[in-house]
Amino acid sequence: MQQSKEIAERFPDLHPPFEAQAAIAEANRCLNCFDAPCTGACPTHIDVPRFIGKIARDNLRGSALTILDANVLGASCSRVCPVDVLCEGACVLHRYNKKPIEIARLQRFAMDGFHAAGGTLGRKSREERPEKIACIGAGPASLACAAELRQCGFQATVFERRPLPGGLNTYGVAEYKLPAHASLEEIELIRGLGVEFRYETEIRTQEDLVTLEREFDRLFLGVGLGAAHRLGIPGDDHRDVIDALQFIARYKTADPPAVAESVAVIGAGNTAIDAANAARRLGASNVAILYRRGERHMSAFAFEYEHAKQEGVQFQWRVMPVKIDSDERGICSIECVRVAIGENGVLAAVPGSNFHFACQQVIYAIGQSPLLELLSACRGVELSHGRVVVNRATGATSNPKYFAGGDCVNGGREVVDAVADGKRAGIGIAQVLKVAPQRTSSPGAPEAAHA
Ligand SMILES: Cc1cc2nc3c(=O)[nH]c(=O)nc-3n(C[C@H](O)[C@H](O)[C@H](O)COP(=O)(O)OP(=O)(O)OC[C@H]3O[C@@H](n4cnc5c(N)ncnc54)[C@H](O)[C@@H]3O)c2cc1C
Ligand code: SF4
Repeated sequence: MQQSKEIAERFPDLHPPFEAQAAIAEANRCLNCFDAPCTGACPTHIDVPRFIGKIARDNLRGSALTILDANVLGASCSRVCPVDVLCEGACVLHRYNKKPIEIARLQRFAMDGFHAAGGTLGRKSREERPEKIACIGAGPASLACAAELRQCGFQATVFERRPLPGGLNTYGVAEYKLPAHASLEEIELIRGLGVEFRYETEIRTQEDLVTLEREFDRLFLGVGLGAAHRLGIPGDDHRDVIDALQFIARYKTADPPAVAESVAVIGAGNTAIDAANAARRLGASNVAILYRRGERHMSAFAFEYEHAKQEGVQFQWRVMPVKIDSDERGICSIECVRVAIGENGVLAAVPGSNFHFACQQVIYAIGQSPLLELLSACRGVELSHGRVVVNRATGATSNPKYFAGGDCVNGGREVVDAVADGKRAGIGIAQVLKVAPQRTSSPGAPEAAHA
């Protein structure tokens, strides 16, 4: 997939890649710590000093293989991980008041070099095993699970409802961090292992699931989260009231959407920030984030907040939209009310504080619902608050036929958490199938006891 010229110009790289000399100089600053807190802080436990040491010795391929051994999506994670709160946040150089090692940019340097040289992934086992595993969803969790299984010799098939793989890596993460084409390029490594992909194939009903249960030995649920919560206020059905996820997906993978002069974004998480920044870069002069709580309550990371301010996004705290006003020309404003936050955190509208915030477009990013319909159709799979309950060490659910990982288990975290979950589940499935080898089960197999 080619990135459009317009999008490439409007969304240049947030953290431009290292030149070779600068990368080697940065790699040589690493203290090669024995207990490497950076590795401990990475959910996929990439051996950071090892891969950095290989860059210092000009062994780029070896460095990339060290990364890929722990994290098959090492390229995208190098661009999208919130490293300030993960590996770089844990770097010991902070203790000496020195700048932490730029781990993410070094990781990207190694992975870019690997891809540019046409690198491919190797198998961990030469054995070809007959057992088949269906991974539902082609996001980071399923990709990591399928890659792990295929590397161990199992047959992995990924079912994806959309036309392209990658999940939110392709359709959601801001373009200046990870362009869709870079996400797709990385997935070619996984396809190269022999993982089969079936696109535009939504697994919707219990009947679909039962068919998969018959055809496959194990099922992995990597379906992420569902639709965005709607605002639920009068006027929210106007055509210029847009779901942030659809807005981002559209500019990343289709024609850039038209943006208005003034845009209001409702919500203050990372998705709201991404949508607000995108609206600015797509040409909106005024973009404001409206949030019902205060600055310190926002769920966006501090560096995302700083970035949005640099992009010129305005913030309105303790305001709640109550109605969207429009006329025959389109949206004119959002009626808002000011909010008081009680000591116990309870929000209360301040009487008589209503005001109109002028804008012509509204983007909402107030969280996503779980895919309850699908998850409830997975017989015998325990859910808690809409999330799949798993054994954290293996990804196993309460039905031995099903494993799960990523956002549908953790409720929505980071790409690297989904990769870690997917890999753990891949290992978990491989262990179970090696202990009790099994060609596809027939209806009435032991799993049915959990139905
Ligand atoms: C706007 C946005 C920006 C983000 N930015 C970052 C970031 O900068 N850094 C970061 O680390 N994380 C970021 N995240 C979080 C990160 O993208 C997710 O945590 C991660 O993608 C979760 O991976 P997953 O595989 O669990 O789910 P997803 O990536 O959501 O993938 C699930 C896949 O399953 C498919 N699917 C769903 N139902 C079915 C079905 N019934 N049949 C077939 N296929 C189905 C979906 O189409 C999708 O492709 C962001 C999230 C959002 C929403
Ligand atoms: S903590 Fe910092 S200095 Fe130590 S190994 Fe990790 S990156 Fe290198």
